[in-house]
Amino acid sequence: MKTRAALAALCATVALIALAGAGLGAPHRPVRAGQPERYGQSHGAGDAAPVGHGGPHWTYDGAAGPEHWGEMSEDFAACAKGHMQSPVDLGGAESAGRLAVRAAYRPGGLTVLNNGHTVQVNFPEGSQLASGIARYKLVQMHFHTPSEETVYGIPYPMVVHFVHVDANGNLAVLAVLFEEGAHNPELDKVIRAAPRWEQGPTPVAGVTFDPARLLPDNLAVWRYEGSLTTPPCTEGVRWHVAEHRVTASAGQIAAIHAIIGDNARPTQPLHGRLLVAGSD
Ligand SMILES: [Zn+2]
Repeated sequence: MKTRAALAALCATVALIALAGAGLGAPHRPVRAGQPERYGQSHGAGDAAPVGHGGPHWTYDGAAGPEHWGEMSEDFAACAKGHMQSPVDLGGAESAGRLAVRAAYRPGGLTVLNNGHTVQVNFPEGSQLASGIARYKLVQMHFHTPSEETVYGIPYPMVVHFVHVDANGNLAVLAVLFEEGAHNPELDKVIRAAPRWEQGPTPVAGVTFDPARLLPDNLAVWRYEGSLTTPPCTEGVRWHVAEHRVTASAGQIAAIHAIIGDNARPTQPLHGRLLVAGSD
């Protein structure tokens, strides 16, 4: 029961992550007002707290853009005052570690949603991430175009964030950067099913999706302690960013960008945090 309660709380958090995208300052999307709650209810566990609670409508540019998130609500204070915020630039890792990261992702049914900020895939039970001795359950993945993470200041055209939770409700994210190149057939399943407009979780009949096919063969990662990259910018998120990129075709990246627009929070200062590079 304890786990169940933690999960409910977690799902609320995850829903917030998803909602984070709602701001899409992009012109692409007619976001209907007054709908955030349904995403909290509909996420995975179903009993997640009403997410959003009609909180301030944030975006990725303008008066409600990232530089103003921290002023929009007391609940968003960490966005401005936190010293462990995400994303970060990954170019300056000063130490190397040997922590083993293993993604045991399994194929399963495909459920997609568009929360007004991003396109998200919710996963059924069964996929796990091991980070050292910690074990996390894969909950959802979603996209940012361009990537929020940069390497020596340069973003990639797209990133997917795999969001996981452990039994105590702690979050871990695995980020995989995309560069333009070979077409990724598995990604096409998401593109075909992705709602063009805001829409709650929708199971896609007859499609099996394998998240492992969006991973690089080598899972060496940069690691650091960070936050949600969307309001309320909650800290305590364990970040892993794959050092090896995967590819998607220019057309695939453009197709996702056409739906989600520019939804990358700018990189945040490390404030002395340890950024650890992995080894192959
Ligand atoms: Zn994200």
